[in-house]
Amino acid sequence: MRRLMGWAADLLFPPRCALCGEVLAVKDCAEGLCKACREEIPFFPEDKCPRCGGKTDTGGFCEACLRPFAFESACAAFPYERVRTAIHLFKYRGGKGFGEGLGRLAAEYLRQTHTELLSGVDVMIPVPLHPKKERRRGFNQTILLCRAVSAETALPLCERGLLRRKDTTPQSLLSPAERKENLRGVFVVNADVAGKRVLLVDDIFTSGATCGECARALYRAGAESVRVFCFAAA
Ligand SMILES: [Zn+2]
Ligand SMILES: [Zn+2]
Repeated sequence: MRRLMGWAADLLFPPRCALCGEVLAVKDCAEGLCKACREEIPFFPEDKCPRCGGKTDTGGFCEACLRPFAFESACAAFPYERVRTAIHLFKYRGGKGFGEGLGRLAAEYLRQTHTELLSGVDVMIPVPLHPKKERRRGFNQTILLCRAVSAETALPLCERGLLRRKDTTPQSLLSPAERKENLRGVFVVNADVAGKRVLLVDDIFTSGATCGECARALYRAGAESVRVFCFAAA
């Protein structure tokens, strides 16, 4: 019976590549990645700013892209268009396996490109979802990704270090100015971050308004520094 159910589940949710979301050939299932992604994992190139595509020497955002934000630095593991399908499947179909695969690779990216984060951060704090949204979805995808990164890198994780106070209009429906206003006072620090170097983690970096507002809340609570790590940047 169990075998039959496993077989039915494979038909409904065939194993897919953790990065591009392609259905996997049987021989690739153990790896969790398709051949193309395995041969060249599409990490963000070290010398390219994930936001503007311009030159950078930090492996993260260039100076101009950082200027509007409260956080000290920001980086992203993958260009969004390369992992769009996997993130979508993970978010909306609750594919936990994807989270682990993506999380493991994100840890690999940190080890390759950002050793300064692995040794210079006290705690990882994920950007919270609104509780209603999390209940509807059943999980916060960023927390699941963080768990995988924490397991791989031994970076301490404070899953509920930030809470979201009120429901907001989806940021995608608003202008940049409205986005800022929409998020004012929304994030509440729920951990002792005084004097701590925080790695704020989000799944996808888009306008940066959310990460910027979270960083401001963390600084107000006494954080020594706030750096941002996103799984993907658009
Ligand atoms: Zn793939
Ligand atoms: Zn830039």
